[in-house]
Amino acid sequence: MAVDDQVSAGEAIISADSHTDGINGHTNGANGHTDGVNGHTDGVNGHTNGHTNGGLHPEKPKTGITVIIVGAGFGGLCAAIECHRQGHSVRLFESFSELKILGDIISFGANAGRIFRRWHTSSGDRISDRLRPLSIDLSSYGFNIHKFDTGEIVLNSKNPPADPEAPVFNGHRGEFHSILFHYVKDELRVPVRLGCRIQKYFETESEAGIELEAGERVTADVVIGADGVRSKARELVLGYVDKPKSSGYAVYRAWFDNSGMMADPETRQFCENGDTFNGWIGPEVHFLFSTIKGGTDCCWVLTHKDDAGIEESWSFPGKLEDVYKVFEGWDPMCKRIVSKTPEDKLVDWKIVYRDPLFSWVSNGGRTMLLGDSAHPFLPTSAQGATQAMEDGVTIAISLREAGKGNIGGATRAFQKIRYERVKGVQKTGETTRDVSDICPF
Ligand SMILES: Cc1cc2nc3c(=O)[nH]c(=O)nc-3n(C[C@H](O)[C@H](O)[C@H](O)COP(=O)(O)OP(=O)(O)OC[C@H]3O[C@@H](n4cnc5c(N)ncnc54)[C@H](O)[C@@H]3O)c2cc1C
Repeated sequence: MAVDDQVSAGEAIISADSHTDGINGHTNGANGHTDGVNGHTDGVNGHTNGHTNGGLHPEKPKTGITVIIVGAGFGGLCAAIECHRQGHSVRLFESFSELKILGDIISFGANAGRIFRRWHTSSGDRISDRLRPLSIDLSSYGFNIHKFDTGEIVLNSKNPPADPEAPVFNGHRGEFHSILFHYVKDELRVPVRLGCRIQKYFETESEAGIELEAGERVTADVVIGADGVRSKARELVLGYVDKPKSSGYAVYRAWFDNSGMMADPETRQFCENGDTFNGWIGPEVHFLFSTIKGGTDCCWVLTHKDDAGIEESWSFPGKLEDVYKVFEGWDPMCKRIVSKTPEDKLVDWKIVYRDPLFSWVSNGGRTMLLGDSAHPFLPTSAQGATQAMEDGVTIAISLREAGKGNIGGATRAFQKIRYERVKGVQKTGETTRDVSDICPF
């Protein structure tokens, strides 16, 4: 089955609508407004987006390029949205069989905010509008940094004024992910196949493809492996198995409702007046605690040294007892906050790392890696998901620019545009880690 055959019903419905794209005052390309990453304008090839589509997104002429994306994480979903916007025909394959709200806090920098802002929805708002109420709001509280042992506040750092064009979002990974997933599947109507664990990739001079577990082969002009840190697509691209390695650190992480915090007069202060953010910085460890969604949800992360292997898994249930051990000699408030965590909400998340790959694109140029499959990040950069999103925008535009006859040119241009930037951002994460050994992440 070729992707060429798959005409998205959503695209047909969207094209038939005649509302203008300017309903939110949003304009693209024709007026020179920069609407992409790395300075790309959204009016590539001189298209002026004169066509309209109900405010969902500017309609670009179809390119005839067919794209298979493996993995519906933030990287794969962003690539799907942007490929759809650029006029390519996309299909998405994902191993999970149903969407679950998983994980805890995730950060999206201003560079991701610019991307979220340009995704218009069928209800007339933007994806950024949907993320805002789920995100932390520190405009009045700021960030308190405490001495780890006495608890004294040494700094209250105020947030810089928000830039409406480049908003920042910090919130629950699963809640954000669910918004994007439903946008792709239900509003853009990109065909999404769940329960497909892709283990085999192949490519010829004229096409690339994947093999499903039942043996079904699906082909397209290009295959994007957005299948995360343990990528299988990486094997075809590199020609060998390259395993991620442990960083030597792990993070205890938890997300829970505020009932325990509110019941204790000592901890209620963090929840009763809206969102808060507090950090205790100690030797080799830091503890960050935030309250979100008007103080109703609580979230904390605590780094610790870890030498466990990562062969089978890098996310384990955590034990409160182990966390308490880290807090010996610390401000008693840290243990008090952590004690409000239901133990089944506690995760011990191994920090997985890898040396930069020499290539993200196969020799034939039709299979490529994107997001964590190409470049996992240390959490100190707070850019893993954001960089995966930049990748998605860049490949979508590169494909349109290069055209169906030059897929290899597009994927190689993608790598050329992205490689040094990603390396630079990865380096920033390492510099932040190394800046002082009191704060490894
Ligand atoms: C369940 C989960 C929870 C996370 N929680 C957090 C968190 O709380 N905080 C944080 O900072 N970061 C978290 N991350 C990591 C963060 O989301 C990523 O670093 C970042 O968003 C990069 O996205 P990605 O799309 O490249 O990779 P990922 O987010 O890892 O997405 C990869 C996708 O590919 C799918 N996949 C993998 N192998 C196959 C296969 N063989 N066939 C088909 N599909 C496949 C996976 O199911 C997944 O949906 C989490 C990741 C996951 C998967």
